[in-house]
Amino acid sequence: MLGPVHAETLRDEATELLRELIRLDTVNPPGNETAAAELLRDYLAESGVEGELLAREPDRANLVARIPGTGGGKRLLLVGHTDTVLADPAEWTVDPWSGELRDGCVWGRGALDMKSHVAANAVALARLAREGFRPAGDLVFAATADEEVGDADVGLSWLCREHPEAVRAEYSVTEGGGDRALVAGRPVYLCAVAEKASAPFRLRVRGRSGHASMPGIADNALVKAARLVERLGGHRPERRILPETHAFLTALFGRVPGPEELDELASGLDEPLAGLVEPMLGVSVSPTMIEASRKRNVIPGTCEVVCDCRLLPGQSRAEAEAELRRCLGEGDYELEWIERVGGSRSSSATPLFAAIADWVAREEPGAAVVPVILPGFTDSHFLRETFGTIAYGFFPLRTMSSTLAARLVHSADERIEVSDLELGTRFVYELARAVGER
Ligand SMILES: [Zn+2]
Repeated sequence: MLGPVHAETLRDEATELLRELIRLDTVNPPGNETAAAELLRDYLAESGVEGELLAREPDRANLVARIPGTGGGKRLLLVGHTDTVLADPAEWTVDPWSGELRDGCVWGRGALDMKSHVAANAVALARLAREGFRPAGDLVFAATADEEVGDADVGLSWLCREHPEAVRAEYSVTEGGGDRALVAGRPVYLCAVAEKASAPFRLRVRGRSGHASMPGIADNALVKAARLVERLGGHRPERRILPETHAFLTALFGRVPGPEELDELASGLDEPLAGLVEPMLGVSVSPTMIEASRKRNVIPGTCEVVCDCRLLPGQSRAEAEAELRRCLGEGDYELEWIERVGGSRSSSATPLFAAIADWVAREEPGAAVVPVILPGFTDSHFLRETFGTIAYGFFPLRTMSSTLAARLVHSADERIEVSDLELGTRFVYELARAVGER
């Protein structure tokens, strides 16, 4: 592990780099990630690490840099996106693009999601390069565009397809985990090893239109849809315990509790754990959009309801549809799937997971690492689908509570504790060393 003086310089370097990254407005859309890619390229070059800008569109460049391996080892890809969601300055205490240092925190859009992690990756890589570290397998740094919107195909999806040799790796670490929680007084850190698939669908409900002044002559599709929406809103997913969920519950409770006991135990957990249990057990469905008549005085003959729906990794739409139809019952509706994105997993029985667990055990004796299935998805799925990469989400937070961090992400006054930035930078540095020395 790093001594205190080294940790301090690492912290100061990461703090300055993060502040500079925040000052570059990379709100997506439009992104303008090239500014961040150039800053990081120049920063890494000062430590002798050559980086390459890879861009499908000139303003939306990705940066890939590496410390080449001596051969025979596993490649580790440190990947982070440089785009952010928007920010409304009127809601903020400070200018969201100031990178202000205040009360022990760096403030600004991207401070948590995820310019901090990107800065930590870059500083760890630069430091290792200056020390002359030669890993057995390539240590690869990627700062990627367009994660937050994700439909421009200029970021990791594009790199995996058009520049596979740049980002191919056996191992990768990105966002999505690292939250710390207490379970019966014992600290646990969550490591994202799998992600649910986004599989929205449309319900087309049929009735018969008519003049709204005489409801009896028509068959109102909106009223019929309302009954279906209510059923979906009350849906309790049919539970299935995947291996990840088994490991998660066993780590938390020492065993897999039965359904009723699990509900009770879950309600006693702190956030973010409490909110994760239910999505890990099955399909989730949220009706979010509805469209019926365009005229007040015309009873709609059809009504369309769009539902956000998330499937467990490995779960088919046919299987989910059977469950949804059991919930909806018979009726005048058609169910039509819109798309399916994400839904992937990596085993947690790997040397990379063990290295993360070792790091946590050294950092906070008595703490455990717990695998989780994320309810949403990250860029990890591109790597898992293209290369079979063992891809995890992990960036530890200890000083700031995970509850507060979850509230600040994509919201006003986003900030990171400098002590957490130091922790995260040390994590990346020490993990890269541990993996590279194997
Ligand atoms: Zn993010």
